[in-house]
Amino acid sequence: MKLSPVKLTGILILIFPLLIACQAQNSKEDTMDSNKNKLTEKIFKTDEEWRNELTDAQYRILREKGTERPGTGLYDQFFVKGTYYCAGCGLELFRSGSKYDAGCGWPSFSQPSKNEHVDEHIDRSFGMVRTEVVCSRCGGHLGHVFNDGPPPTGLRYCINSESLEFKADEQESK
Ligand SMILES: [Zn+2]
Repeated sequence: MKLSPVKLTGILILIFPLLIACQAQNSKEDTMDSNKNKLTEKIFKTDEEWRNELTDAQYRILREKGTERPGTGLYDQFFVKGTYYCAGCGLELFRSGSKYDAGCGWPSFSQPSKNEHVDEHIDRSFGMVRTEVVCSRCGGHLGHVFNDGPPPTGLRYCINSESLEFKADEQESK
């Protein structure tokens, strides 16, 4: 069948609004999907609220980006099976399975429980370029991540004990 130019134009005019409508639908769904995958709830609190909720040591590290002295943290030489949560907001951060003794004086992990639970920022303080690790929900400072970890990730998440709260697995605590 041969289509005359007039007919062809007619068909295009009919199809064109359909195409536009389709694209609009798709982009709407894309936005919804990407929102679903993001950690939507963020926690924002005033300094005063954080001061009231955290211990002095937790506040200094989580909110003021402090660092505990090496070898002094509760979870440095600690290898019980369980889960580590953010001491600021309770978000799950690390599992004991990824914890190892890096000999650096801080709890070290090869990977977070979920990548989207930690955010990373370039930290240029003290004349060094390091990658700071923060809790993705409350923004609390956790520590730094380095490229000298064990396989398979090759990463060392060097985390302050004060930024963490540990809960043992059920069978371990009995
Ligand atoms: Zn947090």
